[in-house]
Amino acid sequence: MAKIKINIKDGTVKKSETVIGIDLGTTNSLVAFVNPDNRQPYCMSDQSSSIVPSIVHILPNQITVGEKAKPFLTTEPQNTVYSVKRLLGKSYQDVLPEKNQLGYQLHEDPINHLVNISINDKHHNPIEISSFILSHLKERAERILDEKISKAVITVPAYFNDSQRQATRDAGKLAGLDVLRIINEPTAASLAYGIGLNREESKTVAVYDLGGGTFDITLLNIENGVFEVLSTNGDTHIGGDDFDRALLIHWLNHHQLESIVIEENKNLYQTLRLLAEKAKKHLSSNPVFSETIEINQEVYTFTIDIETFNSIIQSILKKTIIACEQAIKDANIQLSEIHEVVMVGGSTRTPFVLSEVAKLFTFSKINNQIHPDEVVALGAAIEADILAGNRKDVFLLDVTPLSLGIETIGGLMDTIIPRNSKIPSKAGRQYTTSVDGQSQLKVSVYQGERDLVEDNRKLGEFILKNIPAMPAGLPKIDIQFFIDADGILKVEATELRSGVKQQIDIKPQYGLTDTEVENMLLSALKNAESDIKKRQLIETQSEAEQLIYQCNKLIYSNREVVEESEAVATISQIKKLQEAIQHQDEEAIKLEIERLNNLTRPFAERLMDHAIGNALKGKKIE
Ligand code: ADP
Ligand code: MG
Repeated sequence: MAKIKINIKDGTVKKSETVIGIDLGTTNSLVAFVNPDNRQPYCMSDQSSSIVPSIVHILPNQITVGEKAKPFLTTEPQNTVYSVKRLLGKSYQDVLPEKNQLGYQLHEDPINHLVNISINDKHHNPIEISSFILSHLKERAERILDEKISKAVITVPAYFNDSQRQATRDAGKLAGLDVLRIINEPTAASLAYGIGLNREESKTVAVYDLGGGTFDITLLNIENGVFEVLSTNGDTHIGGDDFDRALLIHWLNHHQLESIVIEENKNLYQTLRLLAEKAKKHLSSNPVFSETIEINQEVYTFTIDIETFNSIIQSILKKTIIACEQAIKDANIQLSEIHEVVMVGGSTRTPFVLSEVAKLFTFSKINNQIHPDEVVALGAAIEADILAGNRKDVFLLDVTPLSLGIETIGGLMDTIIPRNSKIPSKAGRQYTTSVDGQSQLKVSVYQGERDLVEDNRKLGEFILKNIPAMPAGLPKIDIQFFIDADGILKVEATELRSGVKQQIDIKPQYGLTDTEVENMLLSALKNAESDIKKRQLIETQSEAEQLIYQCNKLIYSNREVVEESEAVATISQIKKLQEAIQHQDEEAIKLEIERLNNLTRPFAERLMDHAIGNALKGKKIE
């Protein structure tokens, strides 16, 4: 049911605000919404198509987006930006390998080292360029729905890291959109097929996404409405554009046109490339394509039949199948455990793609009834509708990719929210001080799976100040972690006896790539055994240091109870323990701790009696 507000004064009816779903693609972008009358998602079309090519033509006083910007790719390549998604949230260093493949100029931002695009001597940030595409989609939605739009859900590839997600969110903000949620493209595609909407069902799904210039395979596990990414694989440089190029090369070979087309005539090259794309699309529903073109006053017939086309693209497809097999291996599951496959991306319209994918996933149900170029946007619209509060029956959750915790004594990582926890999430633990009268406590927050914080990634730190003077171990410091639905972490520390409190917000930071996350997980596995040994050594060392601290206190501040000979023996035993600590020999430290304990026990007991006696003496019993 849609919410309706009626203005009692003038009788106008106001529907509740529509939240739109956006697929911000490398090649094409789309915007969709859920129709409140029938609760079905629709992509919003202008004239004929729902697809907006992700192309932006930039003049000092005019920005053109989409289909109208396309012709400028050949006429003004230096100020026509395409594939900007490849640059989002990346440093200049990250994109150096693809720099020469783009028709426009890249630059390094001297301050944050992120990549910039320079056009007419002006530097544009990929976030800004993406925001032009988002604004275009927002305006399309406003025109079609005839209402102001201010909220959206935007999809990103599952492998996007924090920095790329934050950049996408920033692009939304710049376009005047409050981005309610960033969700993974494979999650959105599954939602469009209704997978995950039923809380009771648990499933393993493979999402095969072959777009214009990228290929992604994602394995998802869905349980209780939680989408967990089991593995991702793919190739950021394989897609339908490669089919076009392969067909073009085939034609040039066939007519022996290589030298003329490539070297002499860039426009002709583009014309034939577009013809190849047209042929490819035609072959998705016809057996043969044929068209004639005049080149240098000679008429050429460009023909292709489906069998020849399939053999041309065979080797490209093979690469995607190998990536699928690798993803299955990485997820540690069997082919037979995959319940469903979801087909995504315009290139899966090529029938041979479907048949090759079906050949691999023999055990699974293949979903391809929804337009593969629209399915992600449709799923985003469903998520948007849920977040708008129109579907109370479902609640979508994400999970944290890496564990979150704080540094404790000896540089150890103490995990508070373990990896793969559902978000939003909340967890906490109590700590205390290690020195008498300690008035400050540094809280350092880390992300990662290793036992030592130095092997993990520091997210931030703060100091809890003004802890009232108390003996070591007495303050009760409560540390709470909260992660909101966007993955933004808030850390709060409170000394419970005094109520002193301090907190920080930790936003996802630019800079941690997906490979880095993967490497952090891998190295945690590889180092698990040595980490445990190190952790034990550090724990024993800090136990020893605590004991030394206590023993020193015992002999220096209780001279009336401790005899001189006992003090001398204790000091010499402390020295032995300190040597053991220095040699980092866990067994030796344990032995010396034991000896020190035995040595000091008699006078510690005497001291206790003395203290109790004193306490009783002070009390008046009447
Ligand atoms: P992206 O997600 O990378 O932005 P899309 O999913 O929109 O891209 O896919 C774009 C690709 O789909 C292009 O290479 C385009 O040629 C191809 N494509 C679109 N329609 C068809 C079709 N009918 N048959 C084969 N390929 C198609
Ligand atoms: Mg896509």
